[in-house]
Amino acid sequence: MTIPRILVLGTGGTIAGAGSSATGAAYRPGDLALETLITHLDTLGLAADLVPQDVAKIGSQDIGWAEWQALHIACARALDDPAIDAIIITHGTDTAEETGFLLDLTLPTTKPVVLVGAMRPADAVGADGMRNFANAVKVASDAQATGRGVMLVMGDAVLSARDARKAATSAIDAFRSFPRGPLARVSPARLDWFGPPNRAGEAARYAFPAALPRVAILTAGAGMDEQPVEALLGIGAKGIVLAGMGQGNAPRVVIEALARAAASGVPVVRATRVDEGLVDRNVEVDDDALGLVAARALGPAKARVLLMVLVAGGVTDAASVQAAFDAG
Ligand code: GLU
Repeated sequence: MTIPRILVLGTGGTIAGAGSSATGAAYRPGDLALETLITHLDTLGLAADLVPQDVAKIGSQDIGWAEWQALHIACARALDDPAIDAIIITHGTDTAEETGFLLDLTLPTTKPVVLVGAMRPADAVGADGMRNFANAVKVASDAQATGRGVMLVMGDAVLSARDARKAATSAIDAFRSFPRGPLARVSPARLDWFGPPNRAGEAARYAFPAALPRVAILTAGAGMDEQPVEALLGIGAKGIVLAGMGQGNAPRVVIEALARAAASGVPVVRATRVDEGLVDRNVEVDDDALGLVAARALGPAKARVLLMVLVAGGVTDAASVQAAFDAG
């Protein structure tokens, strides 16, 4: 059996983080070089040829278009390179779902692309990074991993990047998956898929955006007024995602202001600030009459990513934006 050759793209995050002590809370995400991580992995005897490439050394709260473009270029090259079998991206967990979803929208499904992170820095007692990485190698090396879109490996689970969201600030088991559950359970010794690949042979759904339009998330709160909407339009927002209450609700004056924004050509997507659940059209808000879009299964962070991609591609009318969210 030939061992797989896996491109490992490093961006930073806790998996590459180091603290001043094994028991303290403070640490610097992204401090360790990817080579150092790979050297640690060598001691695990993993059956894979890992090819490291540093893209960034940052906490993922600082990731943006430049790093995303570098990642996209590196992934696209590797997908075309017959010498590379799969891609692993080491990433901070804060925005792993955003990077994962953006790549999922803009890459074909021809080889496994796996994001992996950690909740504890590499030198902390009980660090999870090496286990998560070993699990990611197990997934990326597996013949059944192709044709599932971009995946996130954390906490011994394999999640679709479309479905994953960070749901805990510090627990090792920090990610949840909605509306689909995990694609597989994984350990360094074992991998169990819960179904066959369902996206084999898919082309990239969208072109990688040439720039990121200003799309803002507005979180609804009881008693708020419409001024935050006006302020967003005042700074030139090209799209607005409402992190609404319940089924994407907000006080009446806010919904009216959002409808005015939509009428002026700024697409508005209603998502929810609730941890999990669908936001459907025309439940308590008359989307048909007001020109608004329902986010369906996408939470605010991922709704923003999709809306940025759509607006960058010139898709702004409510019907077309809704169709993209329905497909999401
Ligand atoms: N905030 C940092 C980041 O997202 C560290 C958190 C983590 O990786 O778990 O990169």
